[in-house]
Amino acid sequence: MDLISVWEATANEIKKRPALMGDEHSDVVIIGGGYTGLSTAYHLQKKGVKTIVLEQKKVGFGGSGRNGGQVLTGFIHKMSDLKKSKGLETARKMLKMSLDSIDLISDIIKENNISCDFHRNGQIIAAYKESHLDHLKKEQEVLKRDFDYEVTILDADEVPTELETRFYKGAYIDTNSAMFHPYNYALGLAEAVERNGGTIYEKTEALKIERNAQNKVIVTTDNGNVIADEIVIATNAYTTEKLHRTIARTIIPIDSIMIATEPLPQELVETLIKKNRAVEDSKNLLYYFKRTGDNRIVFGGSGRSANRRDENRLFDNLHAGMLRVFPQLQDARIEYRWGGKVGFTREFLPYIGQLEDGTYFAYGYAGHGASMSTLLGKVIAEKITRNQPEPNPLEVDELRPIPFHSQHARIVSLMKYYYKFLDSIS
Ligand SMILES: Cc1cc2nc3c(=O)[nH]c(=O)nc-3n(C[C@H](O)[C@H](O)[C@H](O)COP(=O)(O)OP(=O)(O)OC[C@H]3O[C@@H](n4cnc5c(N)ncnc54)[C@H](O)[C@@H]3O)c2cc1C
Repeated sequence: MDLISVWEATANEIKKRPALMGDEHSDVVIIGGGYTGLSTAYHLQKKGVKTIVLEQKKVGFGGSGRNGGQVLTGFIHKMSDLKKSKGLETARKMLKMSLDSIDLISDIIKENNISCDFHRNGQIIAAYKESHLDHLKKEQEVLKRDFDYEVTILDADEVPTELETRFYKGAYIDTNSAMFHPYNYALGLAEAVERNGGTIYEKTEALKIERNAQNKVIVTTDNGNVIADEIVIATNAYTTEKLHRTIARTIIPIDSIMIATEPLPQELVETLIKKNRAVEDSKNLLYYFKRTGDNRIVFGGSGRSANRRDENRLFDNLHAGMLRVFPQLQDARIEYRWGGKVGFTREFLPYIGQLEDGTYFAYGYAGHGASMSTLLGKVIAEKITRNQPEPNPLEVDELRPIPFHSQHARIVSLMKYYYKFLDSIS
């Protein structure tokens, strides 16, 4: 599925970059021109380390140019669950990392004058069922007691102070989350890399990775090679086995689709999402939506299509879902439809680390990469320059392939039915 996104249609100037021609040397070669790769390059260049980014299509082609623009605190797991699985101290560090990731994005945007409609107005998790609101209330208690972290809960009759809908049974508000125009942030970050002396090649697919007798990395592309001391793989859900078999087998790419309305009257969008917060709901097969800078509503949900007819049906279902949440949008024209791949690991938590052969990696943000990927790019840069302040709770020292990985498309389709069932009975 590769239809144009509203972000691409409304982007700042999209600079075209050349493909690699011939051989080049660099300190570090980075594969993937999304937030992870660009942030790694940005932070390395700032320390005077020479980087080359190779992007198979164009900057922001992957999730980074297509996402919902929700720059969220936390992880896909609740902090109470992370407390149980990781222990309280580690969970606290993880929450802090997620807050740091948003501060970092805000600082990069300011420092580089990136025009990307960044607002830190907070996030709403809208409760789809009363039982979901009960869970959110319990989460609020744990956050306050164990994490010294405040969120607000609204009961059903208070939802209209935030959202003009009867679809939801309550809401959870975290005012630390943010939102941006995702593609413009990627484009701005790429320009910041170049201003700091980094090189980005587009239309340049990394085909093969080898090491020579001097332990230098050689990345082969169609029309040239990059020879470097270090390599970073930042291809997330777009990683193929051809590029890196081990990493590819630890990622499950899951399709997500989005639609965007035409620009709407300001009073209407201000009525629907009153405080301009990013919204997701509490379903397993969740909806996520927000206003854009030009007064549209962008609305996302899950999607995996086998063919074009199926694809149309998925978009129609998503549109019908949007109208169930906001019937006021009945007459709003849908101007853009698009989709992309979201990367998940086995634990549904990001992985960062270095393989035995020296390859650095960070990926698998499970729908929270708009915030976390910029921070993990910085952490990789710190690892490469041996300047890592303290152990990272997301660091993994071994990558274990997911069993039956080659069947993931089929398994994900089946899981969708299961999650739909859970949503209906919860
Ligand atoms: C529809 C959608 C909605 C989403 N909404 C949200 C959201 O609201 N909030 C949130 O936090 N997250 C969201 N996400 C996830 C988020 O976009 C990602 O977590 C984030 O962009 C990951 O950045 P990345 O740089 O690691 O990967 P990507 O941005 O995917 O970049 C990987 C890049 O690697 C390139 N590549 C792959 N193979 C090669 C190769 N061999 N050679 C050269 N280049 C290669 C690809 O072309 C791609 O550009 C969403 C994702 C999608 C698809």
